[in-house]
Amino acid sequence: MGVELAVYLAMLGRDVKIVEMMDAINDGGNFQHMKGVKVQLDKYKIDISLSTRAAEITAEGVKCVKDGSEVFFPADTVIYAVGQRALQDEAMALYGAAPEFYQLGDCTAPSNIKNAVATAYVTARNIGRI
Ligand SMILES: Cc1cc2nc3c(=O)[nH]c(=O)nc-3n(C[C@H](O)[C@H](O)[C@H](O)COP(=O)(O)OP(=O)(O)OC[C@H]3O[C@@H](n4cnc5c(N)ncnc54)[C@H](O)[C@@H]3O)c2cc1C
Repeated sequence: MGVELAVYLAMLGRDVKIVEMMDAINDGGNFQHMKGVKVQLDKYKIDISLSTRAAEITAEGVKCVKDGSEVFFPADTVIYAVGQRALQDEAMALYGAAPEFYQLGDCTAPSNIKNAVATAYVTARNIGRI
């Protein structure tokens, strides 16, 4: 998501830099998709600093650690795109609000549209059968 947003912001003319802790950009489990995204990264000449861990966000930018040394990336805007988690407590607050209660899709764990549709299909088939 961070990489896609970087491409979008570059399309708007922003000067974008990606900082990634791992030694490669995460393809989200879809290497075909990443191939396409990489074409865009090259097209907009988006700089990526790999093996770089963000340590602190300040008013001036992001303090990072790379190869054991501190590096600083000046920025006026910082997008913090390091993953998601399901809001289980919020979902469980609705438990008992109806005769049948199901959780599916990103509600159980952040995933993708295929998972959301697949779990919705199975759940819909079971409504009224329990
Ligand atoms: C930036 C981004 C890019 C993505 N790109 C892709 C992609 O290219 N391909 C892909 O397969 N997946 C992608 N995903 C993941 C995909 O969007 C999700 O996995 C999918 O939308 C999950 O579907 P869902 O129905 O479970 O949840 P959602 O689509 O999140 O729908 C849940 C809905 O419930 C609403 N809601 C929440 N709480 C309440 C409440 N208390 N009362 C009423 N309504 C409530 C929310 O507002 C939301 O509209 C992307 C996700 C993001 C954030």
